[in-house]
Amino acid sequence: MSDAYIIYIDRLNGGTIQKIDLLLSPEFFDVSEPDLNFQDSVEVSGKAYLAEEELLLHLNASTIARMPCSICNQMQPQRLSLSDFYHAEPLSSIKTGLFDIRDLLREALLLELPATVECPGGCKEREVIKPFLRKDKPEAKDAPETYFPFSDLKHP
Ligand SMILES: [Zn+2]
Repeated sequence: MSDAYIIYIDRLNGGTIQKIDLLLSPEFFDVSEPDLNFQDSVEVSGKAYLAEEELLLHLNASTIARMPCSICNQMQPQRLSLSDFYHAEPLSSIKTGLFDIRDLLREALLLELPATVECPGGCKEREVIKPFLRKDKPEAKDAPETYFPFSDLKHP
């Protein structure tokens, strides 16, 4: 179990499908910031197999990230999950015959982080700051109230 996150390529020869079912300790994220940390194990399931000249991974993973509410700063649990995540790794790039799935999972899960988090059901401190929010911008009526960094991306 200790190295269950390592895929041994030679064990997959001949069409063997390896089941993946493991718990990764949250330390593998190597992240502990005031505004982001992980305390819960990462549950990983899925399978690994070879096709053509590639290692194919089909994974599901979930864990809980902790991020501060963007209004009151209280840390909030935020579920992160990957479902039906596929990855194809060329065998030519796996020189050692071993593939560690942790870097892949780490990156994919971090990409799932929301830009901002708010207390469940809406932050109670929203009422406190309401008088300070501008109300005189009609075009902002339907805009999300939280900061949204990609809001200037236009659809084609
Ligand atoms: Zn809050």
